[in-house]
Amino acid sequence: MTIDYKMLRIEGIYNQNAEGDLMMRVKLSSGLLSVAQATVLAKLARQYGSGTLHLTTRGSIEFHDLRLEEIPIVQRGMTAVGLFSRGACGGAVRGISCSTGFGKGFAHTQQLARRLLLYFSGNPHFEGLPKKFKIAVEAGYAGSRHLIQDLAFVYVAQQGGQVLYDVWTAGGLGRAPQAAVLYRQRVPESDLLQLAEAIIRVYAANVKPPRRLKTLVGERGEAEFRQLVDAELERSPAVHFSDAYDKALIPLSGEAVSLKLTLPVFAGELPAERLAALAAAADSAGVSYLQVTADQDLALLPVDQSQRQKLLEALQQVDFADLDDPLAVLRVCPGNHECSMGLTATRDLATLLRDRFGDELGGRELAISGCPNSCAQPQLAELGIIASKSVKEEGGERTPRYDLYHRRGEGLGERIAERLTEAELFAALDAEF
Ligand code: SF4
Repeated sequence: MTIDYKMLRIEGIYNQNAEGDLMMRVKLSSGLLSVAQATVLAKLARQYGSGTLHLTTRGSIEFHDLRLEEIPIVQRGMTAVGLFSRGACGGAVRGISCSTGFGKGFAHTQQLARRLLLYFSGNPHFEGLPKKFKIAVEAGYAGSRHLIQDLAFVYVAQQGGQVLYDVWTAGGLGRAPQAAVLYRQRVPESDLLQLAEAIIRVYAANVKPPRRLKTLVGERGEAEFRQLVDAELERSPAVHFSDAYDKALIPLSGEAVSLKLTLPVFAGELPAERLAALAAAADSAGVSYLQVTADQDLALLPVDQSQRQKLLEALQQVDFADLDDPLAVLRVCPGNHECSMGLTATRDLATLLRDRFGDELGGRELAISGCPNSCAQPQLAELGIIASKSVKEEGGERTPRYDLYHRRGEGLGERIAERLTEAELFAALDAEF
């Protein structure tokens, strides 16, 4: 049977290789996963695929190495606990990423992210887009993730019973990174859905596949883009979220940031057994949700000090004693371990980095992407590594070349070296450390 891999994409499925192994990406609401959902995902991952789940920088979870015949079984299991993958790949509104700093504004952002996810996922009016459309809801400007989205809402304040957001649009990474532009400031949440719809319609009507929204703004200029969106807003009726989307998934406490526990997950690779143990520990302490962070780790949010203490004890019993380690941020995409676009074995490179620099990584932010698509967001890291080319050596073997980025200010990182061999890359990193 010939498999039409392009048709599978809208279901959140990519082919990994010529052997027919498949990746399936599961959308999570604001990166949150209930204990019941985590338990089911862990069970499915033990039975099907590689036995390890991959946490992404956009708060989704990926199965790798699935076979086609296993997909319906896994999907059925996911559906039973309210999880789905529709629109996680292909020309659709992808999973809504949500910042996970847990500071002021997080309570509102996770709710808005949930509303957007439920509204756009599987919505036929917003599928069949020229390419992916990425939306993020950010609790503030720390991390600058708003710069790399097709559309980003950044929480700024509450006023007169409304939550206000700055709206950024037309950003993106890939081979031609472009920082988003500020579209409007202090927009009430009640106006955001209509604005999002208008921008996506403008994208769908004016951009040829497989281009992103950033090309429209790049080619026709910001002024014309604004006119197009304004005209679309005039045409389209106001649309608001239904109450059905209002459930907050985790306690909306301002204390969350001081109570949270972060569990480092190296390269976002989480063995199914470890997820199951973690879910059981959370459950025993009465914590209902696990959070996939924007840096591919897991966070738990107890509601008070006594629950935090219970959780710590439960985690230590299942060998999660590394909670207080100084965290290095090391975002790593799957690279050619599982991704057909990958030019390098990203996790092997990350392991070499960890072995070489050890404690020096503590408190620093690095990211490794296996190709210029930049899924690990290397231009937002202090030091970003992109495998930009694969070169055929004299013996016929192919080896990767790397570009190195350094981010100093608040914008995107700048490329400071290119086409480096692995040895040259480590020499350049030595100089930076
Ligand atoms: S950056 Fe490239 S190699 Fe890495 S996951 Fe994205 S597409 Fe694949």
